Amino acid sequence: MNSFSDWLDAELTALEAANLRRRPRPIESPQAPVLRMDGREVLNFSSNDYLGLAAEPVVVEAAREAAARWGAGAGAARLISGNLPPHRELEERLAAFKRTETAITFSCGYAAAVGTLSALAGAEDVIILDKLCHACLIDGARLSGAVLRVFPHNHLAKLESHLRWARAKHPRAKVFVVTESVFSMDGDQAPLAEVIRLKDQYDAILMLDEAHAIGVLGDCGRGLADELGINHRVEIQMGTLGKALGSSGGYIAGDRRLTDFLLNRARSYVFSTAPPPAAAASASRSLEFLESKQGTGRREALWRNLRMLAVETRRDTPPASAIVPIHIGDEAAAMQASRDLLEAGCFIPAVRYPTVARGAARLRLTLSATHSPEQIAKLAAILNRLVPRCPA
Ligand SMILES: *Cc1c(COP(=O)(O)O)cnc(C)c1O
Repeated sequence: MNSFSDWLDAELTALEAANLRRRPRPIESPQAPVLRMDGREVLNFSSNDYLGLAAEPVVVEAAREAAARWGAGAGAARLISGNLPPHRELEERLAAFKRTETAITFSCGYAAAVGTLSALAGAEDVIILDKLCHACLIDGARLSGAVLRVFPHNHLAKLESHLRWARAKHPRAKVFVVTESVFSMDGDQAPLAEVIRLKDQYDAILMLDEAHAIGVLGDCGRGLADELGINHRVEIQMGTLGKALGSSGGYIAGDRRLTDFLLNRARSYVFSTAPPPAAAASASRSLEFLESKQGTGRREALWRNLRMLAVETRRDTPPASAIVPIHIGDEAAAMQASRDLLEAGCFIPAVRYPTVARGAARLRLTLSATHSPEQIAKLAAILNRLVPRCPA
């Protein structure tokens, strides 16, 4: 291998041979239950826009107005050229929504996770993560230089043994437990009440990523911690504005000392241009929508769709989130199933390594409140024909 291009060619060829080469699929319409791709209309079951807010007229209008009033870009990081009204309003609204003292926003959830973990933890600290934590949490933990421990997915006994070990071996360390309320590729929930009991018992700090729970779970979509009434016991609440909120951005909500510390020390906040005012304004408008009657109506429609799909595809477990994984295993088989479904008119992406473990490829199906019952019925019929459920 004597040149950079040869190396790139070899790497891409190897990905292709392992059925792991990816390409973003061109689409020709905005996120909605029906997507245009390759000049043809298909039903969209790929999006994290769980409530249809990305295309909601009042949310789009808020972005348009903010762009007209405040400009297309923020100009610099907020500590350099100032904090615009849409950013301030969003942080106030988020804190009220999450029922925390304050909130701080980042350009995306990934930046929030990486900036927060690397600012809060150092080489003398311990971070304990669930095995299925999102890449941004793993990357933030690695970047912090802390001692890392991983527990098998939702395995409380193993979490406890890591906590016991951390307290014994690193008596002066800050010990962080990092998990998600809804896991992004499995759609299941963490046993949050038990996780909180354990972290309190061992005097650890919990960082909870609510990326797939905000908008979907709890009163007005405030998330799983709020649904369980244990919001005040989660020190670091994280989420994204890019999924059910239909906009773009990430947040950390918590105590004022936490957000003040992060705005000084989180490098992805300090050294990165503030998100566009339009993104902040549309996220604020989405939060307002969530707290309205219409918001409640959307959440009810989403859960109605999820229950309908479960019944019509004879899934025995009730849905835990808007994410319905269909496990296939083999990467090539998952790709083929996704192509067959697309041929039949349903866009359901296959996810594979490195998003999930090797040999754990799956179809990742997501529903939206804005799918009609007819669209869900059509999906169920196609799934029953093409991917009949094998006994797990
Ligand atoms: C998508 C996602 C993120 C990242 O959020 P972005 O705003 O898309 O960067 C973080 N955590 C989880 C669990 C996610 O699924």
